[in-house]
Amino acid sequence: MRRLGAFQPRRTVWCPHVRRGRPGPTVRHRWLPCGMSNAVVDPETDPRATYALEPSRVRELTAGVVASGEGGTLTTYTPLTGAPLAVLPLSTAADVADAVRRARVAQRRWADVPVAERAAVLLRLHDLVFERQSGLLDLVQLESGKARSHAFEEVGDVAIVARHYGRRGPSYLADERHLGVFPLLTRSTEHRRPKGVVGVVSPWNYPLSLAVTDALPALLAGNAVVLRPDPQASLTALAGVELMVEAGIPDDLVQVVLGPGDPTGAAVVDHADYVCFTGSTATGRRVAQTAARRLVGASLELGGKNALYVADDADLRRAVPGAVRTCFSSAGQLCISTERLVVHEAVYDEFVGRFLDAVRRLRLGVGLDWGADVGSLVGEAQLDRVREHVEDAVAKGARVLAGGRHRPEIGPFVYEPTVLDGVTSAMTCRDTETFGPLVAVYAVADDAEAVRLANDTEYGLNASVWTRDRRRGRAIAARIHAGTVNVNEGYAAAWGSVGAPMGGMKASGLGRRHGREGILKYTESQNVAVQSLVGIGDIPGLRDERYARALTGALRVMKAVRLP
Ligand code: NAD
Repeated sequence: MRRLGAFQPRRTVWCPHVRRGRPGPTVRHRWLPCGMSNAVVDPETDPRATYALEPSRVRELTAGVVASGEGGTLTTYTPLTGAPLAVLPLSTAADVADAVRRARVAQRRWADVPVAERAAVLLRLHDLVFERQSGLLDLVQLESGKARSHAFEEVGDVAIVARHYGRRGPSYLADERHLGVFPLLTRSTEHRRPKGVVGVVSPWNYPLSLAVTDALPALLAGNAVVLRPDPQASLTALAGVELMVEAGIPDDLVQVVLGPGDPTGAAVVDHADYVCFTGSTATGRRVAQTAARRLVGASLELGGKNALYVADDADLRRAVPGAVRTCFSSAGQLCISTERLVVHEAVYDEFVGRFLDAVRRLRLGVGLDWGADVGSLVGEAQLDRVREHVEDAVAKGARVLAGGRHRPEIGPFVYEPTVLDGVTSAMTCRDTETFGPLVAVYAVADDAEAVRLANDTEYGLNASVWTRDRRRGRAIAARIHAGTVNVNEGYAAAWGSVGAPMGGMKASGLGRRHGREGILKYTESQNVAVQSLVGIGDIPGLRDERYARALTGALRVMKAVRLP
């Protein structure tokens, strides 16, 4: 992570008050000029510095972090204004090993708690996230810079996942009877045993959602969790854990370690019994190698270069706002957002005209209140990446149809929602994930060309198809190589339908979150087969050839009576 303390704006501007009128318990109002110094400001000791968050609240949140002190501290900054946010304790690799040891002890007790009681905790969490949503939204915005409405998606997501696993989880985990090798004599039952300690390594872009929702099914399945949120997402994740404990999770069952990918995240991968990783494909490959060496399982939720297709019969009144939301939610820092707009040539001019009007009307803002349509990028590295992609494309002949400018007067890392056309494979943004508010538009002659273009990527995370004909939408979806396809929606329909699996094909990942797969991955299946009356191969009076003949006959009968 780049330290925002090293960020120096081109000119000194006074940070705007991030909250208008509505005082809150955790957020401070006094601000200093952004980037007063290019040295890292320590808000604990530097009288010029003002935290964006009360230090007492930070201390409360970080009190349970497993950090011996050897790892030092890290000052984080809010992308909303560049102001210092918090001083975080960092965990060393030895601290991570210690966290795993503590989690292992707690897990043994938790696995004995009846699953119905474990599920009740999730249902209580559902209510708590709504009760405490104001404070959660503040934290999500302060750490990620996103607009409040996009932060709310995370609160809603936690509630939906908690409700789903709270209600359906016990049935996913229930024992399952199977036909024994010899019916009546053999009874086979499949049990779902917890893996033990699940390591969750979560990124910064959905700081609440991705830290909490992947942990919930792991906990319900009887595991402990060692959570390593991205440093830029640590406080939100800790607030999520605080609520889990309030809902009834034993306080040593979820151990939180803080620090960068290397060494802290890597140490989690080195010690956990199963790894749930969310991040880029490049890092996912490293995580997969370590997990493979240790022979532990891993689910990898990775990057995307998602396409949205507008067919010639699409209802443009819905497609235009739907596409805008899908491209620019969380300022494009959403793994399932759209970076390639594929438009049928019959509606290209009309769709693109209306789309550009809507994009230009988007309200940019960094306030801790409702109203902005698009917030900030998370920091300097992300801003640089977006700028580089736009500049590279323009230098090679692409046209900027909307946006294309950094807007430091709004917030240090605000970049306009940007639309390009004329993007070719010579340009970086044609195939490389930008992870920012940048979309390229392509015209196609028919559905076949749209599908070819949608599939012309190493990724396969999410896609969207807009057509009035739902049957046509399903037929197109069947030919797109992506883990989720939304018809007449951008991403939220599939993402929010949490009874069904969600995840990536091709380089977008391994394994799935949500639904049955999203919880059973945290379990080991165990087949307990109980043999009664006579043993197999051990029938009195029957040996060798006679036994083989009897068995042949029995197996033929079993097929004839259509046993599965
Ligand atoms: P990144 O891969 O650089 O980092 C992701 C996380 O992994 C970070 O918190 C980082 O600290 C940690 N990390 C780095 N090295 C590690 C290691 N060796 N072992 C363990 N952890 C390590 O990605 P990023 O740029 O921070 O996040 C954006 C990427 O994440 C995008 O590609 C985006 O598409 C992807 N993402 C995917 C999903 C999904 O569900 N598929 C969701 C959100 C983000």
